[in-house]
Amino acid sequence: MSSVQPGSLWVVATPIGHRDDFSARAIATLRAVAVIAAEDTRHSRPLLVHHGIDTPLIALHEHNERDAVDGIVRRLLGGDSVALISDAGTPLISDPGFRLVRAARAAGVRCIPLPGACAAIAALSVAGLPSDRFVFEGFLPAKAAARRARLQELAGDARTVIFYESSHRVAESLADMRDIFGGEREAVLARELTKMFETVIGEPLNDLAAKVVADPDQQRGEHVILVAGRGEEADAKLAEGRRVFAILRDELPPAKAAKLAAVISGAPRKLLYEVGSAE
Ligand code: SAM
Repeated sequence: MSSVQPGSLWVVATPIGHRDDFSARAIATLRAVAVIAAEDTRHSRPLLVHHGIDTPLIALHEHNERDAVDGIVRRLLGGDSVALISDAGTPLISDPGFRLVRAARAAGVRCIPLPGACAAIAALSVAGLPSDRFVFEGFLPAKAAARRARLQELAGDARTVIFYESSHRVAESLADMRDIFGGEREAVLARELTKMFETVIGEPLNDLAAKVVADPDQQRGEHVILVAGRGEEADAKLAEGRRVFAILRDELPPAKAAKLAAVISGAPRKLLYEVGSAE
């Protein structure tokens, strides 16, 4: 048996904007480990220098993670402690690190979380939407058809849904959410959290989608979109819509039946078409 104790893998959250959202324990750990595996070493260096951290950096990003993992696990087993950071927030949350953590655990290495900023949780904490049950969906697919299909899957979920979105797709995604979840569904856009232009807007999807299209400033920067789960009132409308759709479907083409059932019940047309056609 080797006399060397395996090192630990520290999974360390870094700020999502404000550079002082960095815990004292995170800074001390990053100073103490043998090496820091960073998603983008050039991106992280200024933050680390600002906090007096001069530990050597190695790259661990989505394109090299598969190849880099073996070497890092060998170092851990040889006794080096390693910290994993991503460009912002908590590693593995829409960021690289999953393969490394999985391989390290499989090799018997202790993985220690060092919690801190996460945009999804920061947004949820101020959104004013139900937070007792929520689902994190990360980024929606870039292609419109796949994105809409994913939204259809989520339309009936009673939990608050949290999405990450990039500036060039936020308007498009909000429009799709409005069409699929219904314009009355409550939603929140949390933009540039902890930064100079931090904005948190809560509106029904109809108004939120229109506001973001009308004001290009609202499309800049980084975004979290939160959508309230389907409520009891919506459940009642959907039940009524399904009943009407089932009757009309015998007389009309499905698209026309869904359109009329939506007008009569107030339930979203796309959801009625989707759910009703599957019945
Ligand atoms: N690991 C990060 C975390 O813990 O939140 C997320 C990384 S993911 C690649 C980047 C996305 O997170 C952005 O496109 C945006 O959707 C969201 N995000 C990150 N920082 C943000 C901020 N300051 N304000 C709003 N959203 C942010």
